[in-house]
Amino acid sequence: MVSEKPQVLIVDDRQENLFVLERLLQTLDVEVILAARGTEALALTLDHDFCVAIVDVQMPEMDGYELVELLRGNKRTARLPVIFVSAIYSDEYHHRRAYDAGAVDFLSKPFVPEILISKVEVFIDLYRQRQQLELLVRELNTVNASLSERAVQLETSATISHQITSILDKDRLLAEIADLIRTRFGYCFVGVWLYAVDEEVMILRASSANAECQEIAPGSVVSCTDEDLQPIARVCRNTAIYYNDGRSSSPENTPPGRAHLVLPLVMGSYMYGALEILHARDAIFDSGAITVLQSQADQIAIAIRNAELYAEVRALNEDLESKVRERTAELEKTYHQLELLDRNKSEFIQIVSHELRTPLTLIMGFGEMLREEPQVKQDPALKYQLEGVTNGALRMQEIVDSMLDVVKIDSRALGLQLHELQLADLFASLREELDVALQERDLALEFVDISTLPSVEADSLALRKLFANLLYNAVKYTPDGGRISVTGRFLDTLGDEASSYVEIVVSDTGIGIDPENHELIFTKFYGTADASFHSSGRTKFKGGGPGLGLAISRGIVEAHVGHIWVESPGHNEITLPGSQFHVVLPLRQTEQTPEEIARRIVQLRSALALGTPGRETASMC
Ligand code: ADP
Repeated sequence: MVSEKPQVLIVDDRQENLFVLERLLQTLDVEVILAARGTEALALTLDHDFCVAIVDVQMPEMDGYELVELLRGNKRTARLPVIFVSAIYSDEYHHRRAYDAGAVDFLSKPFVPEILISKVEVFIDLYRQRQQLELLVRELNTVNASLSERAVQLETSATISHQITSILDKDRLLAEIADLIRTRFGYCFVGVWLYAVDEEVMILRASSANAECQEIAPGSVVSCTDEDLQPIARVCRNTAIYYNDGRSSSPENTPPGRAHLVLPLVMGSYMYGALEILHARDAIFDSGAITVLQSQADQIAIAIRNAELYAEVRALNEDLESKVRERTAELEKTYHQLELLDRNKSEFIQIVSHELRTPLTLIMGFGEMLREEPQVKQDPALKYQLEGVTNGALRMQEIVDSMLDVVKIDSRALGLQLHELQLADLFASLREELDVALQERDLALEFVDISTLPSVEADSLALRKLFANLLYNAVKYTPDGGRISVTGRFLDTLGDEASSYVEIVVSDTGIGIDPENHELIFTKFYGTADASFHSSGRTKFKGGGPGLGLAISRGIVEAHVGHIWVESPGHNEITLPGSQFHVVLPLRQTEQTPEEIARRIVQLRSALALGTPGRETASMC
């Protein structure tokens, strides 16, 4: 029984004693409860929480000592303070018995009323303090319990946030959100509604329910302009939390007796939808839980935004990829067309060069015959004119040969006749060929370290063409009075003969080449200068050519599994920066498949990246 006032139990078999003691205690703010026997007192302790019991020692059936022993044996009353009152047993022996039985005090009759009152007051104070302490402990326990509950909610919330932020597929994300929140927090129903701006409606996109709750099928629609303003519509309109504890009246769609919470899913000023939750029967959402769930809802809004952005990026990517596919297909088509054109061009060159060969042979044959005619022999003017015709035909012959070489290179039909070749001999013979031109143009030609190079396995005619092209170009693009040099060195990339190379650099002090043309000049029919400015002749300064020399040179070098490139700071006809053409050739030609050749060229290029002139060389002799 709960009483506002502290309760005091008085046990005495004599009515007059009970009366006196009750009257005495009326001065205190207590409720006095009387018992005439020990058994009655025991029964009263079942329903009351007494602050002190005043017990007469001498009673029939059950005396005071027995009663107190029984009280001490019961958990509820073990600590009940007891004051014994006795007239007869006031000697030392009974005092001790009383204390042994569990009394906290002993009063002998007649006693001074003030003493009894003050003793009882002490126990009332103690009782009040105990009650306050118990209240505090109860409050503390409640706070502790709600703190632990909050900690669990926060932890669950963090786990859910972590899980959902890694899901980028929107449908899967929403389904996971509904399931995770319901199962982790132990709710009855969780639904995720998304807002469709254009139609001003909320659509249920995912839901999860346990056996107690009926699941609402995804796809359900609630109009935000609804006059009845049911919970979802209300949140949609106000972007504020809706909460109904289910104890008062429940609106339509809310199962009676269930706490119903709807949280807006908002990011910045944009509302994505709402998170609807129904709690287990008779449970409520306290303010702490609502705060945790609102922060969960904020995370969900971010996760939805992320998923939407991801979907947009994916759509953009797909669009981009399809555009790239289209462009690639177009490029491939154009490439095939160009390939076809190139083939046609090669075929045309082949036909033209073949067709030109016969008339050229005729011109040169008849020229030879005319030269033997006495009339021509005796007439210097005729002889000079005939020489002009023959030289022109020879030049044409060279061009036709170049065209045929290009055709062979294009169709990979440049059959090599391999021999051991001393490059020094080759350059000596070329020097002889160029001697007149060098004198005419006042050009110096020097060879550096060529005589020390080892022999190479190569096609001598092809290499002659290659270096003739480079030397004639050096002559053509270097103004009178300039210098040309041919430098050789041995490159030993791996230390064995199969991976050893020679490098020959043809340098000049000529007009140079712009870096953007360094690759282009090796394509056929490419000339950097305006064709109308070409002066005729193979050795004249800036003398024109068909633009085939370097294409043939590269074809020859690659047929030998070598590498050719140019270095030049740029084109300038006043400062004359000059050019250096590098040719790297292997010492030995080995039987190789096209794949092996390709691999060797890659190896060679990477080895050259270490050892190209002008940079630090890895291993050179
Ligand atoms: P061409 O018959 O026109 O000389 P090439 O294939 O031999 O054809 O050369 C292509 C172009 O490269 C030339 O037109 C010229 O512009 C440039 N070129 C080649 N060698 C040199 C050089 N040593 N100095 C400057 N430019 C050069």
